[in-house]
Amino acid sequence: MKFRSTRGDEGVDLATALARGIAPDGGLYIPEDVATLEIDSFADCSDLVSVAKIYLQAFFEGDKLADSLDEICNETFSFPIPLLNISASGTSALSILELFHGPTAAFKDVGAGFLAASLSRLADAEASSSQAKPLLILVATSGDTGGAVAAAFHQRAGFEVAVLYPKGRVSARQEHQLTCWGGNVTAFCVDGSFDDCQRLVKSAFADAALNKRYRLSSANSINIGRLLPQSVYYAYAAIEHYRQHRTKLNLVIPTGNLGNGLAAILARARGIPIGDIVLATNANTTIPDFLGSGVYEGRDSVATLASAMDVGNPSNMERLRHLFGESDALNELICAVSCDDARIVDVVKQVYAEHGMAICPHTACAFAAYQDLTERQRARAWAVVATAHPAKFNDIVEPAIQTEVEIPEALAELLDRPSRFVTINPELGAFSISLDETRR
Ligand SMILES: *Cc1c(COP(=O)(O)O)cnc(C)c1O
Repeated sequence: MKFRSTRGDEGVDLATALARGIAPDGGLYIPEDVATLEIDSFADCSDLVSVAKIYLQAFFEGDKLADSLDEICNETFSFPIPLLNISASGTSALSILELFHGPTAAFKDVGAGFLAASLSRLADAEASSSQAKPLLILVATSGDTGGAVAAAFHQRAGFEVAVLYPKGRVSARQEHQLTCWGGNVTAFCVDGSFDDCQRLVKSAFADAALNKRYRLSSANSINIGRLLPQSVYYAYAAIEHYRQHRTKLNLVIPTGNLGNGLAAILARARGIPIGDIVLATNANTTIPDFLGSGVYEGRDSVATLASAMDVGNPSNMERLRHLFGESDALNELICAVSCDDARIVDVVKQVYAEHGMAICPHTACAFAAYQDLTERQRARAWAVVATAHPAKFNDIVEPAIQTEVEIPEALAELLDRPSRFVTINPELGAFSISLDETRR
């Protein structure tokens, strides 16, 4: 299959789209034709990995990565993604789809793992055929992305990783996950905002001197390699649900940059038995406002308790509108609701009281959106998507529920490691110099 740019550039193969991240015309890659799948093709699938292989096959067809599909799926989907029923007896079916059992306890581990598994196979091929310059992955992060990418590329030969995060604006545990790696991963604490970090990464890409020394690559959320594997867990959950109940599974998805939500919309477009899709945002209301007014207005983000969703101009909007049209058409496909910080805290408390379950602030936005459904809607089967483990956001969750949240084993291991980072001003010169120093 070929992938073309939302802005018109001709199609390229999967390997090229993955390596480039963004198309030369500045657009985002999308699959050229999205083949539909019959539910029968999953008849022999009993686990996540086997669903992944069938779901992703069409995207790999004819690509130089095609022979590696099985291995890439085995590596990416190496941790469980359970769909757990949490409905009180006698009520309608409510489940939670837990995406947070990976190495850094957030769903971004899936996309980062897939990208690392794919790029490392491409790098192997290149290293053996050419004068390989090291591949430098640059990530600007406001929290979860950087940790997931660092975990996925840590100790992979031929790769260097530079993680840039804004000083004082990520949670203590998130910062630890960005700075605990060492080896081929360097963390840069930028004295500035997340936007400053992104600007630094952009200027690094345009810098001749850095390009001479490295092959630069980004692993940000616009890479098609983040999107494709995220559809897999929706396919897995919906197929499992369909087998048991013969009905479609409806979804509420915490949404920021719209990568996770778009993955579900794409899975449904390919024939996966998903019903309604509700996107749950925090106080950054760009998407609900667009669906309401029909006028798209990207803006600066506002800081909220669900910080990984603090996005004012979701980049995957370009893909969504290109694939499915403007607000009239989109209103047929999705709806979107927002939740402010006060409600996030309330919902964390309520869900703990009702289900004895701690949830992260992002997941709380999805529970709030579920509560706002009509009774008629709630009579159907829904899955609320849990995007991060609550222990990552203990500073918000624990005061709300008045209880300590148990730390998952993978996270505890990371928190035990020493933390190392370099503080820099938000200037390319400072970044370049300290990059050289740390590599010496
Ligand atoms: C990144 C992130 C989100 C938002 O996902 P998008 O794909 O950007 O919409 C939600 N929750 C958590 C915990 C995240 O890390």
